Amino acid sequence: HLPTSELQALDAAHHVHPFTQNDALAKKGARIITRAKGVYLTDSEGETLIDGMAGLWCVNVGYGRKELADAAARQIEELPYYNTFFQTSHVPAIALAARIADLAPGDLNHVFFASSGSEANDTNIRLVRHYWALKGKPEKSVIISRKNGYHGSSMGSASLGGMTSMHEQGGLPIPGIVHIDQPHWYAEGGDMTPEEFGLQRARALEEKILELGADRVGAFIAEPVQGAGGVIIPPSTYWPEIQRIVDKYDILLIADEVITGFGRTGNWFGSQTFAIKPHIMTIAKGLSSGYQPIGGSVVCDEVAAVIATDEFNHGYTYSGHPVAAAVALENLRIIEEEGIVEHVRDVAHPYLAERWHALGDHPLVEDTQLVGLMGSLALVPVKGERAKFAAGAGTAGYITRERCFANNVVMRHVYDRMIISPPLVITPSEIDILIDRATVALDEAYKQLKDDGLLKKAQ
Ligand code: PMP
Repeated sequence: HLPTSELQALDAAHHVHPFTQNDALAKKGARIITRAKGVYLTDSEGETLIDGMAGLWCVNVGYGRKELADAAARQIEELPYYNTFFQTSHVPAIALAARIADLAPGDLNHVFFASSGSEANDTNIRLVRHYWALKGKPEKSVIISRKNGYHGSSMGSASLGGMTSMHEQGGLPIPGIVHIDQPHWYAEGGDMTPEEFGLQRARALEEKILELGADRVGAFIAEPVQGAGGVIIPPSTYWPEIQRIVDKYDILLIADEVITGFGRTGNWFGSQTFAIKPHIMTIAKGLSSGYQPIGGSVVCDEVAAVIATDEFNHGYTYSGHPVAAAVALENLRIIEEEGIVEHVRDVAHPYLAERWHALGDHPLVEDTQLVGLMGSLALVPVKGERAKFAAGAGTAGYITRERCFANNVVMRHVYDRMIISPPLVITPSEIDILIDRATVALDEAYKQLKDDGLLKKAQ
């Protein structure tokens, strides 16, 4: 390939990056990843990085899996594409839907395929509204979601999200989407115990339903653990209370499992970890470990039965794409046969948990959170006060992420929270490498923040 500097110049000139200013890219240049194996990435300069983010919460079975390449190649030769629209189907989509139905909890037995989490959540908006219309209650069209949630980037799914300007740019949200507060105890819990706060934030849903009228509210959507919002694990009281409320007011519950699905939290689905009983589940990312773009809405028997009474005029060219489905099927086989879900539980507790929570002793860190192999920590200017940096949200996070990059470990920051979500196959010795490098990065970030006079808190 071309030298790195030329690749970077072309990239900044012609390639519009999501969530990145091209001006910044022109100045600094993107890090160009050329290949990967296991939990390691190699860049265009031949440097090796350990991937603490599994790509973008995707590559759960690790990089360089020949079985997945073979599954794709076989399927491309046999049947590279066919649609599933007009009473035709094909073997990969049939087999994958049946396998997902098998794995999914409760009676979530029906899969509507899409190519991404965004598409699947757009499908969910239409599914919910169509469902209530068919039941003779078309006015039950409002969908409630949460501030600081993330559900995708298309017009519908971005409207469901609640991450500041990201979900407002371009005239969003679309009508009929309403946001309530998130269960982020560390940031917003004040003097309450986590348990009190969890109940209070769950009851915000009840208050909103009563304000709008239960006859207008069709669904509530939430991630079992907010991912892009910063890996926020809700207090233990939150989900049971949400469950009580959706049952009481006859509201559909959509669990967005795009990140938490397929082993991330130590069960096949986050809904199992948190004892949630959704009517609809959104899946993507880990379904194929990111090897192919595929996602879907997994729907319970009752919703599927109602939808089946009419034609649901909604579908994507690539719904159930045969190559993507074949790869996803093989990916699920790997997860099961290699016991990767059990591995997550074994390696997360106590091994990763001990090392992760020990980072809470660092002068820059508090509020370490971890469930399965997804974790986060808050960067703070002063310990013990839940203080925020005066320099503006995200400054410390950005500096720390840069220091991580310089030390060849990929971590993400959301404002001033650092996140890890490594490939699920990570071993204890790889966890050591990841945490050791992260620790050096935190030390360097602390020194830089101190030297730059940024260890000041907002008044
Ligand atoms: N839902 C959640 C919980 C997500 O984290 C994401 C992506 N980060 C999406 C939906 C959107 O998925 P996609 O980017 O595949 O459209």
